[in-house]
Amino acid sequence: MTSPLNYLTIATKDPGSYLHALDALRLPKLQKQIAYLWTNEDYFRPLFLAAGLTSPRDVQTIEDFRGLPAFLDKARHRESQDASLQRYGHPLGLHLTTAPENAIHLAATSGTTGTPTFYVFTRKDLDITYRVLGRMFALSGLRPGDTTFHAFGLSLWLAGITYVQALEAYGARPVALGAEAGVPKILRYIQLTRPRALFATPSMVNQLIERCRDEIGVPVEALGLEIIFCSGEPGASQPLFRRRVKDHFGAKVFDATGGAWHNGTITCDSGQAYGMHYMAEDHCFRYDLVDPETKAPLELKDGAVGEAIHTALEYEAAPAFRNATGDVLKLHVGECPGCGHFGVRMDIVGRADDMLAIKGVKVYPAAIQDVVRQFLPHVSGELRIRLDAPPPRVEPPLRLVIEAGEATAEADWDGLGRAIEQRIRELLTFRPSVAIVPFASLPRSGAKTRLVEIAGRSS
Ligand SMILES: [Zn+2]
Repeated sequence: MTSPLNYLTIATKDPGSYLHALDALRLPKLQKQIAYLWTNEDYFRPLFLAAGLTSPRDVQTIEDFRGLPAFLDKARHRESQDASLQRYGHPLGLHLTTAPENAIHLAATSGTTGTPTFYVFTRKDLDITYRVLGRMFALSGLRPGDTTFHAFGLSLWLAGITYVQALEAYGARPVALGAEAGVPKILRYIQLTRPRALFATPSMVNQLIERCRDEIGVPVEALGLEIIFCSGEPGASQPLFRRRVKDHFGAKVFDATGGAWHNGTITCDSGQAYGMHYMAEDHCFRYDLVDPETKAPLELKDGAVGEAIHTALEYEAAPAFRNATGDVLKLHVGECPGCGHFGVRMDIVGRADDMLAIKGVKVYPAAIQDVVRQFLPHVSGELRIRLDAPPPRVEPPLRLVIEAGEATAEADWDGLGRAIEQRIRELLTFRPSVAIVPFASLPRSGAKTRLVEIAGRSS
């Protein structure tokens, strides 16, 4: 059987010519998409004109396309929805590029700031979404006919109903109980339905491990799950988490993102996570990287780090077109050390607005956290980055407050602090000032705890 990773027919194993071949694949689709968006007079055409284009034919090369500014981001998405609600009585956005009656499926983001932003799908958009997600399901080893268990939240999330319907289109049998049902009920229903694969966030997976014996009298291993498909929050690429899942469930674990505007990425089946493979290069340009500060296009090559601009190549309803995601990615172009596949992979490095600039060195809190976690169990894994003023500019040294591990003697704190300073110096090319504090002395508030604290601010 051919691997689901081989959905492209690019033969070259040279990173430069591989990316060149991808550009050649993208350009005609982009040109067609630009002509399509040009007909939208409420949103896209004015932006094209403001960017200096006089006709869709002005975009002749990928460089022409990459030279355009961002057309969409979260804030503009909300404004566009508000404006269409006022003007047309629907919340799908002025950037809706199809008749509202063609929009047959909705998903939304969490709306942490109040208003959700919608992902809108036509029938064709859904079909491509199912195809892309299907490649990811296949990579995880899922087979048509398998029972899967859905412990993602079902409430409007992409990983909710949209994934459930994609699983049905794939031929699987999703048991869509949802995270809303709570851990005890989820465990009982898994025991009852005997799924082969579990779809859940890393924090849900951790809770199932911790509570299984108390709730249903057996360890999670007895549930017989073979595949743990994670998404929705970071963590499933962490070596510690992957080992924990293997130890407790005896299952393979996959870290995935996808569903939004035909994007799809997933880790391959290897003990370690070597970044996430792009599963939709033919439908989506998700890593058009720009400098997070200047927004100038960056050269795409192995090792490039930048803020990702996302464009769906052939999306019909309210598409991402030069959508500034705020995600900072690191690209890998070449052979995957895990599975040997040649292609493009990425790691999520952080958020563009989290970037710190320390004497010209750009660093993301998540990268600092990764280095600190190399010192487990001597540290607990909890840390804070304390700044005197809002980022990005930081007057050195950067101050880190790091919790000692539960069994780390206070006499060892000093040496531990110096060792972490040294390792950060080696890996991230700046020397921080580390203070070790007692175990469990930093407040914990779940997966979304902010690593950065700014003096005088309570957030
Ligand atoms: Zn791989």
